[in-house]
Amino acid sequence: RSFKEYQLSEEINRALTLMKYEMPTEVQREVIPLAMNKEDLVVKSQTGSGKTAAFGIPICEMMSWEERKPQALILTPTRELAVQVREDIANIGRFKLIKTMAVFGKEPFAKQKEELKQRNHVVVGTPGRVQDHMERETLALEEIKYLIIDEADEMLNMGFINDVEAIIKALPANRTTMVFSATLPKDVENLCHKYMENPQHIEI
Ligand code: AMP
Repeated sequence: RSFKEYQLSEEINRALTLMKYEMPTEVQREVIPLAMNKEDLVVKSQTGSGKTAAFGIPICEMMSWEERKPQALILTPTRELAVQVREDIANIGRFKLIKTMAVFGKEPFAKQKEELKQRNHVVVGTPGRVQDHMERETLALEEIKYLIIDEADEMLNMGFINDVEAIIKALPANRTTMVFSATLPKDVENLCHKYMENPQHIEI
């Protein structure tokens, strides 16, 4: 099996070749077709499974370059993961000229505010800082079509539930939501039940 069967654009295929991604991993085989079909997904998978590209590839494929406001929001529990995910998205979207930025605490708010005024297709961030930007209206959410909650179990363990819920409530209802988590404790299940529409469950 190869990435060819997903009929990805030439720009995305070229990036995958450059990254030496030849065959989709298991989580990518499960997630990519459903994500391109705009299905809500709850994915139980570990770090190292290729989960970042599992959502990164369909997201980059679906972004429309012309739109000036962010179309995808990715929440991560830590700043390190936000930086890593942003880098992966930038690599996958490089030939499509996808613009992506990371927002997280402990970096000057004003600097991020300026960068958020530029064209950004994908914003990756930690819940606290994303909510800050949201409240101060420095992050436009009205064109968000994809919400990814990465390492959801970690995020809730770190006490981010209120921030996450506030963010979700501010997003357009007409969106695709994907939750990735290594484990599915009750609080993650509850979150999925509350804010997703008949999500498909994938376990790797
Ligand atoms: P992740 O689970 O997203 O942290 O990815 C784990 C590692 O696998 C990263 O170093 C990715 O660059 C790499 N990777 C992801 N998908 C593929 C693929 N289809 N082929 C080869 N390497 C991959």
